[in-house]
Amino acid sequence: MTAQTTGSTLVDYDDAVRRYDPVLGIEVHVELGTRTKMFDGAPQSFGAEPNTQITPVSLGLPGALPAVNGTAVEYAIRIGLALNCTIAASCRFARKNYFYPDVPKNFQTSQYDEPIAAEGWVDVELADGTTFRVEIERAHMEEDAGKNVHIGGEGGRIHGAEYSLVDYNRAGVPLVEIVTKPIAGAGDRAPEVARAYVQTLRDMFRALGVSEARMERGNVRADVNVSLRPSPDAPLGTRTETKNVNSFRAVERAVRYEICRQAALLDAGQAVVQETRHWHEDNGTTSPGRIKSDAEDYRYFPEPDLVPIVPSREWVEQIRAALPELPAARRRRLATEWGYADAEMRDVVNAGAIELIASTVAAGATPAAARKWWMGELARTAKDREVELEALPITPTQIGALQQLVDDGTLTDKLARQVLEGVLAGEGDPAQVVAARGLAVVSDNGPLLEAIDAALAAQPDIAAKIRGGNLGPVGAIIGAVMKATRGQADAARVRELVVQRVTEG
Ligand code: MN
Repeated sequence: MTAQTTGSTLVDYDDAVRRYDPVLGIEVHVELGTRTKMFDGAPQSFGAEPNTQITPVSLGLPGALPAVNGTAVEYAIRIGLALNCTIAASCRFARKNYFYPDVPKNFQTSQYDEPIAAEGWVDVELADGTTFRVEIERAHMEEDAGKNVHIGGEGGRIHGAEYSLVDYNRAGVPLVEIVTKPIAGAGDRAPEVARAYVQTLRDMFRALGVSEARMERGNVRADVNVSLRPSPDAPLGTRTETKNVNSFRAVERAVRYEICRQAALLDAGQAVVQETRHWHEDNGTTSPGRIKSDAEDYRYFPEPDLVPIVPSREWVEQIRAALPELPAARRRRLATEWGYADAEMRDVVNAGAIELIASTVAAGATPAAARKWWMGELARTAKDREVELEALPITPTQIGALQQLVDDGTLTDKLARQVLEGVLAGEGDPAQVVAARGLAVVSDNGPLLEAIDAALAAQPDIAAKIRGGNLGPVGAIIGAVMKATRGQADAARVRELVVQRVTEG
């Protein structure tokens, strides 16, 4: 094996970014959530039986003619506008010719020199609140390929496989591909910028309603180009393209790895090979795919079976006017509405808690209470379990109900945390957990006074001090009462009752 395949001696990351300037280029494919495919009426839905969501068009049968999905065009325009792009007055589809079993027509219908949207930008917010602007070169429409499934090879790869199956359900699913201009100037934060960019797009797709944008289903896939140069004023270095990186964390790790690997090659006086690379989630490395030249000959030519797309200016303006509030603007609005400080809001965003808090507030909790739960107890639980907040088995509605029980005096904060445990353990809604575990606050004076009398009798010295007007040691009595009621008394109420009791004589 060569250093190319193993990246055997990686340069330490900090050292690499001190001596080299990383430049990124990111291509993001998003599957549009239309009911039917890009060029025919075949339904598209995730997880269907293989080869059931197909028509002669998606199979590329002779004589089958495509027709453009108008909703897909509208979604592409929405994306273009949200990315501050210019929407083409007229644009065409093109055939990108290549032979591969998952493309039954032997060409992908895509856009080449006439993308529907071009020349835009998006501001990406980093974890510390700083903003980095990413310039967009183009966003174009195309169709997805089918899926090859290799049987018998290691990790589903073709290498070593006994045979392969093809599922054409995905063939023809509408895609928009968004291509950045070279992203320079990120320096040592390049991996973070890459991750934040893909996450910003994912959030935007959801807000725009154009895709469920579920990374784990491959709705959003990123190809990450990385190159190094000795200094920011040097010409761009040779890049590699790591394909189909499909989690935010993997995007960050892949960039980081490529920086360390390429720095090692350059240090050794070797050349970086311009190639595609595979990302390996298990060990956090990349390995060579195919050699790729800039002028890879796809023999692009205009698609003769489709007329140009000519979106009227009126239509584009209608779409622009109907664009929903985008995530960054929404975050700013919510922070003001909720009265969160900048740092608080940033923590909420970084924790992925914004939607959860919004729903909890909608369920009746105050913004402060919603933040307390999601960023406190629940954030700790998620960390312990190593899952995302939204993966916890508890809903905003349940948190709203729990807080209601605190507000109406049924639960103290301490009891509420026990109820929370019960909900997380699958014991049902908060009210059910309260009933099943018998956790409600003891609000009857009877049992409380009984416990107070017992505590005063058990600690006569303290009782005497309190009777003498020294309330200092009252905590000891309250503690005993809390213990006797298994924590189900409201401490403030107990204190009142103790004082009452001793003054009564
Ligand atoms: Mn593409």
